[in-house]
Amino acid sequence: MKLGIVGGGQLGRMMAQAALPLGVRTTFLDPAIDACAGEAGQLICAAYDDDAGVAQLAQASDAVTFEFENVPPSTVASLAIEKPAFPSSLALATARDRWSEKSLFQSLDIKTPKLALVDDQESLEAGIEVVGLPCVLKTRTMGYDGKGQKLIRKRADVVGTFAELGSVPMILEGFVEFDFEVSCIGVRNQSGQSVFYPIVKNEHVQGILYRSQPLAQSQLQVQAEQAVKSVMDALDYVGTMAFEFFVKADELIANEIAPRVHNSGHWSIEGSCCSQFENHVRAVLDLPLGSTETITPVMMFNVIGKRPDVQALLAIPGAHWHDYNKAERKGRKIAHITVTAQSNEQLKLRADKVERLLINEL
Ligand code: AMP
Repeated sequence: MKLGIVGGGQLGRMMAQAALPLGVRTTFLDPAIDACAGEAGQLICAAYDDDAGVAQLAQASDAVTFEFENVPPSTVASLAIEKPAFPSSLALATARDRWSEKSLFQSLDIKTPKLALVDDQESLEAGIEVVGLPCVLKTRTMGYDGKGQKLIRKRADVVGTFAELGSVPMILEGFVEFDFEVSCIGVRNQSGQSVFYPIVKNEHVQGILYRSQPLAQSQLQVQAEQAVKSVMDALDYVGTMAFEFFVKADELIANEIAPRVHNSGHWSIEGSCCSQFENHVRAVLDLPLGSTETITPVMMFNVIGKRPDVQALLAIPGAHWHDYNKAERKGRKIAHITVTAQSNEQLKLRADKVERLLINEL
């Protein structure tokens, strides 16, 4: 079988790595000649909206998927005419726009922060009356890793904020004084069957994910799965989806969805019977979904900007090094490390050793 992926970053690379044992060969479309997924499959080097490149990808594939949500809608439409393409254009469009996704959450009775639409400085002032202070102003589209957003603590911070974020359509959210952040990853296949990984506790540094750890038997699991399932069902979603939440006093407050494999699920490569990547490939190619059972105590660290001493890292038992072969650059995710162990105590000891080696540049 042949899988086509729009986007040739580390997510595509890890999808291809998971696809290979299934006998699936992968082709990528990416404008960068040095796209890091190119080492794991064939690379078509062309712009995402290049007609010839898109046609070539469709021709090389039995089914097509996406590594990110900001794919030009015309590309998604062209691919979907030629081959089965998942997730659908509706799912991508909904997740691309913070207002659309939060409106969907509210229509499904999933709790969100207080919200207001902002189109100019005037509606920002009006929105603050609705949402209250402190609040967070976010661009509706193209935000990631904490970019395209600004915390507004007091009235004086409002001056010029709309222009500062580019005078584009935005939303204003009430600031949630959360206890911690979690995500829940689900996978839905073409007949509507879905499976879920255990919820994951996520820690960010300067808006970038730093560490993820699945929580065994959390009392939040059922609540999280219900939210993911209702969103996936509403979108007739096919593939892996991540849903990020704030946790406040045993309640989940929806932050956002990612219509794709997600950084907070990388631990599943070593930690689960079937990883988020393999399950995504299975769903897109209409193969039976694999078990999401956790098979070992596990934790994941991102490597941001600068590589640690890899020799020393590899000497730590249970440390699994995933180098994306990307050039070092401040704030860029260039690798991740999954730590596994026989017990939670051993995991903590090993993770402490790994953490001491990290020299992230944010
Ligand atoms: P986002 O890009 O929306 O996921 O935001 C990046 C990070 O900013 C989140 O993981 C939170 O740590 C923080 N954040 C975003 N929105 C809010 C909010 N409404 N209240 C509190 N923290 C937030």
